[in-house]
Amino acid sequence: MKTDHGEIHAPIVIAATGPWTRPLVQSTGFDPPIETEFHQVAILKNAPTMRLCGAACIDSVTATYFRSDASDKFLVGDFYGKRPIGPDNFPQRPSESDLEEIIDRAARRVLKLESAEVMRGVTGVYHVTPDSRPLLGPVPQVEGLYLCAGFSGIGFKLSPAIGLVMSELILDGKAQTVDITPFRSTRFQEGRPIKADFEYKDTSSASRGTGVPPVQDEQSSAALLADASRLRKNKRLVSGHRFTDAVSSSASRGGACRVSAGNQTPL
Ligand SMILES: Cc1cc2nc3c(=O)[nH]c(=O)nc-3n(C[C@H](O)[C@H](O)[C@H](O)COP(=O)(O)OP(=O)(O)OC[C@H]3O[C@@H](n4cnc5c(N)ncnc54)[C@H](O)[C@@H]3O)c2cc1C
Repeated sequence: MKTDHGEIHAPIVIAATGPWTRPLVQSTGFDPPIETEFHQVAILKNAPTMRLCGAACIDSVTATYFRSDASDKFLVGDFYGKRPIGPDNFPQRPSESDLEEIIDRAARRVLKLESAEVMRGVTGVYHVTPDSRPLLGPVPQVEGLYLCAGFSGIGFKLSPAIGLVMSELILDGKAQTVDITPFRSTRFQEGRPIKADFEYKDTSSASRGTGVPPVQDEQSSAALLADASRLRKNKRLVSGHRFTDAVSSSASRGGACRVSAGNQTPL
């Protein structure tokens, strides 16, 4: 390996290089289909009547995720974002209008968000594979090079398990705790992407990466946007907090749930 500090010789190298992985590994002749996607997250101050430490939720209907952040704040993020985006050159501050639109969608589920004040925003870059699952395992024809990338927005919570199975793969020749063969780095070239028996409806490739929320069963995107525009009239204050590119975690303090099309009960 060539580094800024000279060459390092190692029998095994793991490319756990996040959004920078594709160009790096492409230089070996293998193309891992990992795209970069821009993401923006809003941190809101709880509205006066909101309860503390509520649920964490991934809501396929509004294409948002949200959770409490400490006792007095609420975090809201989007399922989708612009592709591609340079991991060395992406906006460090979220767009105010984009945050408004994301919050308006989430407010369809958590109605009290309509009157919650935006405190600050966070931006970052996902590195996404076509089936939203990571690529784990050897890179073909490059002996000793392993891929561990493509975490598609869920790599933080997976990291303990990924560390374990990658160490097993490398030390024992095979992951013991769970079979990771379906995650092999060549699966797209083989036409074998991972498909769960019961896929979430929001992960369709048609809507992924376009920045446009998918049309849901019995709920047209037109209706969703009309509601969003009505809510946007309640102008929120965006304070002068410094925006950062810190990555958030999805740790839940209350319950956790996932809402898919068909389950549209407001919390
Ligand atoms: C806004 C946002 C919210 C998120 N929320 C969640 C969440 O709630 N839950 C969750 O599980 N995940 C979440 N994620 C996703 C999670 O942060 C990522 O999946 C995870 O950080 C990926 O880890 P990684 O180690 O693969 O890549 P990274 O964290 O990107 O680390 C890659 C490292 O490789 C280094 N590197 C790159 N190229 C080279 C090179 N050529 N030589 C040497 N070093 C190199 C980089 O400097 C970097 O340190 C979120 C991401 C964003 C952006």
